[in-house]
Amino acid sequence: MTWNATVLTLYPEMFPGPLGVSLAGRALDSGIWSLRTMNIRDHAGDRHHTVDDTPAGGGPGMVMKPDVLASAIDAVCDGGDTRPRLLMSPRGQRLDQNLARSLAAGPGAIVVCGRFEGVDERVIKARQLQEVSLGDFILSGGEPAAQALLDAVVRLLPGVMGSAQSAVAESFEAGLLEYPHYTRPRVWEGHEIPEVLLSGDHGAIADWRYAQSLALTEQRRPDLLSGRNGREVSAKT
Ligand code: SAH
Repeated sequence: MTWNATVLTLYPEMFPGPLGVSLAGRALDSGIWSLRTMNIRDHAGDRHHTVDDTPAGGGPGMVMKPDVLASAIDAVCDGGDTRPRLLMSPRGQRLDQNLARSLAAGPGAIVVCGRFEGVDERVIKARQLQEVSLGDFILSGGEPAAQALLDAVVRLLPGVMGSAQSAVAESFEAGLLEYPHYTRPRVWEGHEIPEVLLSGDHGAIADWRYAQSLALTEQRRPDLLSGRNGREVSAKT
């Protein structure tokens, strides 16, 4: 079953962009997921194809018009579309691995990319858009955020990753940051690969990696250990 993404944007030429290469691009070519773009501007009714207007109450910038955006959304979701409708927005729920996983388990997603100062508040409510943020910073548009979200989701779809094992070991999947990686040469600029990794003792290697993950997480992201950011870290797996 294909995972279907529809992106509503004023810049459809930005897609597939980075999603057209490597892992995501190959999965797109092989039909594991599909990507459709809808140009929001095509739904502007007037001669000038106006998509934005000045903010009510004054202030800088422009606001995306609710009627145009709603018409674009309605054209995408005709009736029985059960996909979640996301709006990329710095005010939204923070994108994390749990959200990516739950989206990957569904039928796909409709992703609205904002521009200017953002979109009219009424359309968010009326079309039940779920706001999703990439983090505490401001992009100039929702497109790079949508691409990051889709990339995170697509790599979790069955058949996309070469080795299912590599998803399991990665940062956040176990609630911990990932352990450090090394590859040949064995000595590089005088620095050696940690001895244990060359020992061939898989138990010792797993123990070392777990200890490294834990220490790194304690040092850099103690919030992950306190369980504030999701699941409590329990026993070693
Ligand atoms: N005036 C807004 C920012 C608008 S930026 C504010 O201060 O909150 C223009 C568009 O870029 C937004 O509508 C949104 O779609 C996108 N965007 C900007 N930062 C983002 C972020 N951190 N995560 C997701 N989308 C973002």
